[in-house]
Amino acid sequence: MTNYLNIINSPQIKHDKYFEVLRDFRKGGINLENFEEIIKLISKLPDIAERKPSDFALFDKFGLSDISENDQIVITRELQRRSIESNKKCWHPEASLETCRINSSGKIIISAAHSIQNNGILSRIVENGHVMGYTLDKAEFEGKEYGKNHASIFWGFCNIHDSIFNPIEISPYKGTEEQHFLFAYRGFVISSHKKEESTYWIDYGEQSINDIKKNKKLFDSAILSKEYSVIKTEVFELPAMYPIAVSSSFYLDFDFNGNAINHSEDRMEDIYVTLFPTNNKTYFLISYFKQDANLYSDLGNQLRKRNKLKSDITMLVAAHTENVYFNPIYYKTFIEKHEEELERISFQSQFDYASVGKDNEISIEFSFTPNDYLNNSFGINFFGY
Ligand SMILES: [Zn+2]
Repeated sequence: MTNYLNIINSPQIKHDKYFEVLRDFRKGGINLENFEEIIKLISKLPDIAERKPSDFALFDKFGLSDISENDQIVITRELQRRSIESNKKCWHPEASLETCRINSSGKIIISAAHSIQNNGILSRIVENGHVMGYTLDKAEFEGKEYGKNHASIFWGFCNIHDSIFNPIEISPYKGTEEQHFLFAYRGFVISSHKKEESTYWIDYGEQSINDIKKNKKLFDSAILSKEYSVIKTEVFELPAMYPIAVSSSFYLDFDFNGNAINHSEDRMEDIYVTLFPTNNKTYFLISYFKQDANLYSDLGNQLRKRNKLKSDITMLVAAHTENVYFNPIYYKTFIEKHEEELERISFQSQFDYASVGKDNEISIEFSFTPNDYLNNSFGINFFGY
């Protein structure tokens, strides 16, 4: 059983969204009649840092009850569903009611866009219609099988503007500047879209949403002017076909030598990462804006010099993204045995130790990321042969 009132003490969770689901599902004693009053009482609690258990006596009169673990799962799933629903939109720079696909009542129809090429790449790693991915729900690692058509999708384009990806969706990989730009752009959109979705019930602060807006501006103007050269891409080849696919974006705090990468205050500089197999090779692309070369231009050199490409790619992917898919048999054979370490790595690189101060302001005291994490002390290897 879970005492869900605890989430009120978590400054990053938008408890009103959580309580709305409890209300709509009539769980834990919350219902239409008492909902408003409960939310009002929560807003009158002292700052999180000063709260005592006795402050919660306010809620005694409602006869609230714990919820079961199963209810907890159902509620989290519903929150995810509402998050996805709330953020359906077309990311294209020209998106508007005049240019997007609209329905008979004049609303933009958003279709399911693939963040990884459906027919060329996912079809290469599929087994009986399924691919394998994983998620890190509540810091717990879980391998998951997905139907190929549901894997890697996001609701981020209308089906007119989705065609922007035709050069990487329909044409084979030739390594053109436009293709590299589009791979980077897709990594940007999938990661940003997922982040925005989760702000439905998680508060990351204004900065991370501003970062998305500023990076979108750079991509948008490049798309409109077809200036694909604003993106620099480093290409790495593994001489075998590995049934793994990744599309993502994230930032690095440390390079492969453990040196800190100092980001600006103004806009978070990200890298864009793509991994995909062809018939007899596997390509790994690292892209970044040329204007961010001062931060990231050395990464490619380091990767080449270290001569540990399999380990290095594994760590970049394992520590920074969940948008990764495997052939299910390959996963069972080569990846499953690393699940525990994968959970630890994602935790270290994605969570910070923070304290909560006045007005529930969060300040980050330290990150759990060791500066040499890319050296792969766990010995994880995504490339089994
Ligand atoms: Zn559109």
